[in-house]
Parts: sequence; structure tokens; C-alpha cells
Amino acid sequence: MGVPPTEREDFFMATMLIDGQTVAAQTGKTIEVRNPANGEVVDTIPKGSASEVDAAVEAAAKALPAWASLSGAKRAAFMHAAAAKVKAAVPEIAKLLTLEQGKPLAHAVIEATRVAENLEFFAGFADKLRGDYVPLEDQNKFGLTMRRPVGVVVAITPWNFPLTLMANKVCPALAAGCTVVLKPASTTPLATQRTIEIINSVGIPAGVLNTVHGPGSEIGDALVSHPKVNKIAFTGQTETGKRIMKLAADNVTRVTLELGGSDPMIVCDDADIRRATAATAIGRFFNAGQACLAVKRVYLFEQIAEEFMAKIADRARKEWPVGDGMKEGVKMGPLHTERQRAEVESQVADAVKRGAKVLAGGKRPEGKEFEKGWYMEATVLRDVPEDSRMATEEVFGPALPIFIVKDLDDAIAKANSSVYGLGSSIWTKDLAKARKAAELLEAGYTWINDIQVAYDQLPFGGTKQSGFGKEHGIEGLDGYLEKKSVVLAY
Ligand code: NAP
Repeated sequence: MGVPPTEREDFFMATMLIDGQTVAAQTGKTIEVRNPANGEVVDTIPKGSASEVDAAVEAAAKALPAWASLSGAKRAAFMHAAAAKVKAAVPEIAKLLTLEQGKPLAHAVIEATRVAENLEFFAGFADKLRGDYVPLEDQNKFGLTMRRPVGVVVAITPWNFPLTLMANKVCPALAAGCTVVLKPASTTPLATQRTIEIINSVGIPAGVLNTVHGPGSEIGDALVSHPKVNKIAFTGQTETGKRIMKLAADNVTRVTLELGGSDPMIVCDDADIRRATAATAIGRFFNAGQACLAVKRVYLFEQIAEEFMAKIADRARKEWPVGDGMKEGVKMGPLHTERQRAEVESQVADAVKRGAKVLAGGKRPEGKEFEKGWYMEATVLRDVPEDSRMATEEVFGPALPIFIVKDLDDAIAKANSSVYGLGSSIWTKDLAKARKAAELLEAGYTWINDIQVAYDQLPFGGTKQSGFGKEHGIEGLDGYLEKKSVVLAY
């Protein structure tokens, strides 16, 4: 299995960060973090327990009053300084991300850079928070509204975009004056831990930004149920989100849930097929299909169906070279875990068993270099039954089911037949069709003739079982602020 991690130069002995101190687990237990490209151990992390959760939440609660009352300008200055340091460390952070997550290094660089951008974006709000003056009927009184931080935030993040989804929570929380306990996914804690240490190193007071590591199934309840936690910001599977929502009810803790998705894309008969297929390929195969916002179901108007399917299959075969994310030229890394690949393979097998035809991929790549990793080829299927698993479940991997529809009403009805409602898109030159889709597609986002890029400036979040609450935009910040009314009599 190569060089033992402790003898390697890049092994940094990840720890937790609690109250400004890097700490190991009290039990001395660790979890191995493995490279999905070859199964080798990248590093270990402490396997924290409920007692570390308690210590981290207590530290965050203790740090809250001073951080909340610090001027917005000072909080912004810390965040700008942290952004500069993160930017300088992008190569180091990105390498860790590729090694633990599997994504191509170039994509890890984009993701690490996004943390610095996100810090800058929300730092821009920190010194501009303000309330209102409200005249009242009583002549000797007036009203004010204040915006106060919600308090201690528990942020729980998944493995597919560990840094982006961490930044979506940590940055607005810090800007608003909240303190944070962050728990990254157990399979991708390294780049996150390193980034948090870098952010802390600019002098952010101890206890403002803490991390704990450990299996969600073991320490999740302690995090979610802690009475001193005021908000839980969660991104992950819908099933985990449901459990968190139930537990949060006990203390009436507010929650933001960014959950699973099965984004539909509608391609009308007047669409630009070259652009639409290029976007579909990125939308489905970027990050090996392991993205919440992704093209997960395609609905084609009959007139353009054959042309679209031939082109997307061709792109899948030729434009998405699979391999170790550290290798130059690779566009699609392995799937993150063996279990994740097995899940996608079983969804594809179910569709094929029910009559779907494979137009591209549908199998593991062959060759010695692929033997130890969780690789899968970019896959496209047609004639996928509408009651098959690929149609009704979230497909979290590089496999695209294609369906044919009669018209726009048929397409919208089928697009909305999912329990999910995260992203959606339509390709058409007809503004009336575009407007109808934007109004009727049940999703938090609709792109028209475009790919699913979630912009900092626009609120992002799900509907239906994709969750609720917003990240990004001023609305993302609002989720960390309480609007308080004040009456002043004189
Ligand atoms: P997951 O299994 O729900 O895990 C997400 C996080 O929750 C991890 O840190 C995990 O820790 C933790 N966790 C697990 N069980 C927990 C519990 N009982 N209590 C508290 N925390 C617990 O999700 P995933 O498989 O990592 O992520 C993929 C899913 O995330 C997909 O469904 C995807 O669509 C969704 N996602 C949604 C968005 C969005 O913005 N809507 C964005 C990205 C991903 P461990 O790693 O230790 O288990």
C-alpha cells in the first residue's frame, strides 16, 4: 500500500480544533481517510465522541458574546485576511481535497479558491448590517429593528463538495457574528480541517470557529441535540436531514436543510443542441456526477431526440476521460466510495433490466490503473422506464437517464413527478415556454439555456424533499440573523 502515511512529507496529522487548540480524540481513536483512486491511506483524523462535541459547543457558546459584539468592520477585516491566506494556500488545500475526495486536481483548485471568494463575498456584508427606524402610533414612542446573530451554529457537511459547502455556512455565520462548530464528512475531513486552521490563523478569537470529527451516526445526535446550539446548517442526504429535523424539534432549534436532488432538464424542439449537449455533459459528469445540482433526468421533445442522444453519447464517450484526479488531463475521477459506485451501478442495472438501452459507458473502465479505485465510465441510457430507480431516486454518479416527452406540459408534469425540487433547466428559444417552465417547475432554481452554476449573488436552496432555507446571496446571510424589534419610549 505504498509509504506509511506517517513517513510521508504531506502527512499533517489532522486534528480537531476546539477553543483555539488542535486536539486529538480523548479516546485516542482515529479514522483512516482513504484515497478513492487507489485505496491508500491519505491521513487519519481523530474519532471524536460526545464529550468533544460538548467541549466544542461550550467553547462556541463562550466565544459568542464577544464575537457578536465585535464591530462588523473588525469581523470583515478578519475575513479578508483569512481570504488572502486561503488563496495563498490553494495548491496545498486542493491537493488534499483530490487525495481524499477523488476529484481532478484542476476542479479541486476551483473549489479551494471558492472558499476565499466566499469569505470575501460575506465579509462585504459584515460591516453593512443595519436595521430600521419605524414610526409608531404613540407620539412618544418609536420602533427599531435590529439584526442580531442567531448564536451558536452547528454546520454539518457532506463529501461531494466539502469546501464549497463548508464555506456556504461558515462565511455567512462569521459575518453575522455567530460562532460555529463544524463537522465535516468522515471521508473528507482533511482539506476542510486545513482550511479552517488557516482561517483561524489570522487571529480569529479562540472558540469562534471549531471543528469536531467522527461518524455522524455516532456523534450526530450529540451535535444536533445540544441545548446550547441555536441553529443547524446541514447539507447531505434527505434521510439524514429528516432525522436532524426531528431531533432539532426537541429544543426548537432552527434548521437549514440542503438535501438531495434529481434535477430535470427539458430540451425543446427549438433548442441549440450543440450547447445543450455540452451543458448536459458538464451537468451530469462534473465531479463524477456526485453533485446536488446536476442534470439527473433529461426530457427531450421527440423532434430533436435522436440528434440529442447521438451527440450526448458521443460526448460521454470522447470528452470525459476517467482516471486518478492527480493525473494531468483527467476530467472525471473515481466515485468517492465503493458503496457509492455499487449504488449507481445497481440503479443502472435496474433500468437495463426493465428495458433501458445503454448508449455510452454503463461499465467500469478496464486496465491496471483502474483496478484499485472506484471508477465508472460516463454513462448515458435511453428508453428508461419512468418507474425505474433512475427516474424516481437520486442518481449520485455519472449516469444519465433520458426520457422522451410529447410537449412542454408533458415535460413539466414529468419533471415535477419527483419528490425532490432542487434545480431544473429548460433549453428553448421561445420566451413563452421559458417563462412557463420558470413559473411551473417545482425547484429552487431554474436555468434557461444555461448550466447549473449557483451564483454567489442569487439565493440557492431546495423545495419539497430537497430541503428548505437558503445559502448564497443576502438571503444566505439572513439565515444567520435574527430580526429583533425594539420599542423606545421617551
Ligand atoms: P450524508 O450521509 O447525509 O452525510 C452528510 C453529513 O452528515 C456528513 O458529515 C455525515 O457524517 C453527517 N451525518 C451522517 N449521519 C448523521 C446523523 N445521524 N446526524 C448528524 N449528522 C450525520 O450525505 P452524503 O452522502 O455525505 O452527501 C450526499 C448527499 O448530499 C446527496 O444526497 C446530495 O444530493 C446531498 N447534497 C445536497 C446539497 C444541497 O445543497 N442541497 C449539496 C451537496 C450535497 P459522516 O460522514 O461521518 O457519516
